[in-house]
Formats: sequence, C-alpha cells, structure tokens
Amino acid sequence: MEPIRQLALNIPATTKPRVVIVGAGFGGLNTAQSLPDEKFQVVLFDKHNYHTFQPLLYQVASAALQADAIAGPLRSLFHNRKDFHFRMLRVLSVEPGMKVVNTTAGPLEYDYLIISSGAKTNYFGNENMQKYALPLKTIPNALNFRSQLMQLFEWASLNANPDIEDHLLNIVLVGGGPTGVEMAGALSELRKKVLPKDYPRLDFSKMNIYLLEGLDRLLPPMSAKASARAKKDLEKMGVIIKLGAMVQDYDGETVTLKDGEQIKTYIVIWSAGVTGELTPGIPPEWAERGRLLTDTHCKVIGSNGIFAIGDVALMKTEDYPKGHPGVAQPAIQMGKYIGKNLDAIHNGRTVKPFKYFDKGSLATIGRGKAVADLPGNIFFGGRLAWFIWLFVHVQFLVSFRNKLLVLANWTWNLFTFDKGNRLIIRPYIRKGDERAKAVFAENEVGS
Ligand SMILES: Cc1cc2nc3c(=O)[nH]c(=O)nc-3n(C[C@H](O)[C@H](O)[C@H](O)COP(=O)(O)OP(=O)(O)OC[C@H]3O[C@@H](n4cnc5c(N)ncnc54)[C@H](O)[C@@H]3O)c2cc1C
Repeated sequence: MEPIRQLALNIPATTKPRVVIVGAGFGGLNTAQSLPDEKFQVVLFDKHNYHTFQPLLYQVASAALQADAIAGPLRSLFHNRKDFHFRMLRVLSVEPGMKVVNTTAGPLEYDYLIISSGAKTNYFGNENMQKYALPLKTIPNALNFRSQLMQLFEWASLNANPDIEDHLLNIVLVGGGPTGVEMAGALSELRKKVLPKDYPRLDFSKMNIYLLEGLDRLLPPMSAKASARAKKDLEKMGVIIKLGAMVQDYDGETVTLKDGEQIKTYIVIWSAGVTGELTPGIPPEWAERGRLLTDTHCKVIGSNGIFAIGDVALMKTEDYPKGHPGVAQPAIQMGKYIGKNLDAIHNGRTVKPFKYFDKGSLATIGRGKAVADLPGNIFFGGRLAWFIWLFVHVQFLVSFRNKLLVLANWTWNLFTFDKGNRLIIRPYIRKGDERAKAVFAENEVGS
C-alpha cells in the first residue's frame, strides 16, 4: 500500500500520485486541465492568483485594455475539480533527490514535478538597463508602463508649451520582436488619435517613438516578407526604426548606442531578450542557455519524475535543433501532451514523442494592419491578417468573461478611435527618478 503523506500547505493527504505544477501560464494551465482527478492529485503553484494572457500585455500597457480583460482568476477555472489544489506562493527551490519542492509557504513532496515557470527578462548583464528600463512580462509591468506614460503627459502639460523640453515625450522601445513592433504601433495610434485631444496644448510633433533592433530586420522569428511589411507600415505611422542598433547604456535620461548615437528619453521599454525562469536546486548540467534540457517526452534529461514544458524547456529535435520557439503554442501543446503522457505512465503504457504542430505566426501593427506567416511559407499582411489576429487572440483567452471584455473594448476602440484605459490608478515612480518624484510629491497626487 502507498504511504499516506502528511498534510503540507493544507493539501489533503493522498494515496494517488501527486503532480506538482510550477507556474500557471499556458503550459501549467493546460497540464492541470488535462490531468484527471480520479488518477492524480494535482497541485498548481503560481506567484499570482491569475493566469496572464501575455500576448495582449502591450494593450494593457498602451491603455487599450484594462488589466482584468487579460487575466483569468485561476481558482475560477477549476471550480468542478475534486482533487485539484491551487496555492498562491513562490517556489523557492527543488530537491530532486528527495522529490521535494520548497516554497515560501513550506515544502511539499511530489511524485511528478512539472516545471512550467516560463521565461524572465534578460538584460544581458546591463545593470543600468535593469535599473531604469521597464520590462513587459507581467500585468504589474504593463500597469507600471501605463502609469509612467500617462504621468509623463500630465507632467509635460504642467510644464506647458512652448518651453517644454524637446525630448520629454520621446519613447524608446528596445527589441524589434513582436512586443516591440506591436507596442510601437499602439503608441503611434495613441499619438495620432487620442493624446492630442487629451492634451491640446502639447506639441505631439515632439513625441518621437523609436524602435531599436540589434539585428538587420524587425520580427526576426518571422519571414523576411513579414519583417519588411512591418517596417514599411510602422514607418508610415511615423515610428523611427533603427536596425543594427546595439544599445550600450541608459542612465534614466539618455540611451546611448554602441555607435555613439544618443537618444534622450524618460521611458524605455526593454523587450530585447528573455531567458528561462530556472528553479534553484536544479543541477546545472540539466540546463543549457537558461532552459531545461528535455527528451522528446518532455522529461528533464537526468531527472527522476521531473518534466519541463513551454518557455523554460529546451527540447532539441530534428525539426527544432535549437528548441521550440518561445511562444504560446509549444507551451499549450506540451501541457496537453504531459496530461496524456502521465496518464500513460500511470497505466504502464508509453505515448509517442511530442510533436509540435506549427500553426503559424502573427503580429499586429495597428488598426487593419498585421502580418501573418502560415504553414507552407504562406505570407499575407494587411486587413485579412489583422482579422485573423483578432480572432486567434480572442479564441485563446482563458475565460468567456475575458473574451467579452476584450471584444467590448476593441469594438469601442474601433468605432471611437479611443483607448479608454488612460488611468493612473497607482502612480509609478521609477527608482531613482528624482524629477518624477519631485513633481508627483509636489502635487500630492495618487494617494
Ligand atoms: C509581452 C509579450 C508578448 C507576447 N506575445 C506573444 C504572441 O503574440 N504570440 C505568442 O504565441 N506568444 C507570445 N508571447 C510569448 C508567450 O506568452 C510565452 O511563450 C508563453 O506565455 C509561455 O508559456 P509558459 O507556460 O512556458 O510560461 P508563462 O506563460 O510565462 O507562465 C509562467 C508562470 O510561472 C509563474 N512562475 C514563474 N516562476 C515562479 C515561481 N518561482 N513560483 C511561482 N510561480 C512562478 C509565473 O507567474 C507565470 O504565471 C509573448 C510574451 C510576452 C512577454
């Protein structure tokens, strides 16, 4: 007979195999949803009590959507589950030899551990960038950007034309991947349609949006046609694109490029790199370039009962010798696969190796403008790509409420050319930003 484990983290004792999942992103959520309660006790850990739909974070940051439109409360997604347990906590480390996971609320034993902790922003050791630039990985990050952006305009309007400093309204986006491209498009629409009405005394010809990319094209993971189209569309929208631009430093007021060029700005978004969110305690030989090496069944090579999926996993296959792309679909498909895989292991069977089904890539640029790479080297851009982008994003939101909120906001934005979430709910003062601190403290706002 199986030993009955003691109660830990207020999780009931069980004789069933216990599956502990670290992270409730696309991978973790799909794993938890695919494991049957009759066969497993499922424990899901996340540091937030909601699932974040990261592909639309930029819309929260640029005031097009409210935060709860892209966040699904985790507990509500598992209402009818009998042996499912969510705990909001931070996972601190793993002890693979003991099959124990240590958390901020205490340790818990596992039979199977699924690591789906995603990726974190990689500043490549640039301390100033980490200190002054804003990342865009979480909802709090997006709200920080939105606050900072709107504070900037409020602040600029206090300074009143014509003495306003030229660079006060500049925005720099580092990284020409989907996040940088989508953000640049959204900010350019704000500049054209919304902000001049809100701040009629500000001169928006002084607001420059820079998009900096170290490689020689935008959207490096997509086709050359998609890159060229995105560049053309964004330039038409007035975005200043600099390719082959390597950022060297940012001191909170000036971005310095490797070639010596300087751009004055108070807001920089850093989306130029990510690395796996590794859990301490994992032997270093199990990871490569910040991701956990797995076999084709998602099992961490060398481990006993540990699986890794999504952004944190590195599964090298013939089709993907450098691992799968760091996007939602591999995480979703691996999550579903793990459910089948553990069920098979439980019944003494084996399943076929994981095979990623590439459904294509999309990136939106603005109203009626998007690029789509579909399987079979099919590319198209423009309105059709934009409609597909809209449909796909609504389809993958986790709850009906999310879908409804997003659709309602988008419909409103479409007909009014407005972005109604330009609220400074919680002013954000970047650490060390003495000027912003002085202005906001002086005016006693935000309390
Ligand atoms: C701004 C942005 C835009 C994107 N746009 C697109 C897009 O358009 N299309 C696309 O396909 N993909 C896009 N992606 C990528 C996509 O979101 C990721 O590939 C996907 O989320 C990976 O899923 P995951 O389950 O591996 O990790 P995640 O979804 O990142 O989930 C990881 C979870 O682990 C939790 N966690 C991490 N560490 C701990 C810990 N120690 N303790 C407790 N919990 C922890 C986190 O809170 C998080 O909930 C985008 C990503 C970003 C950031």
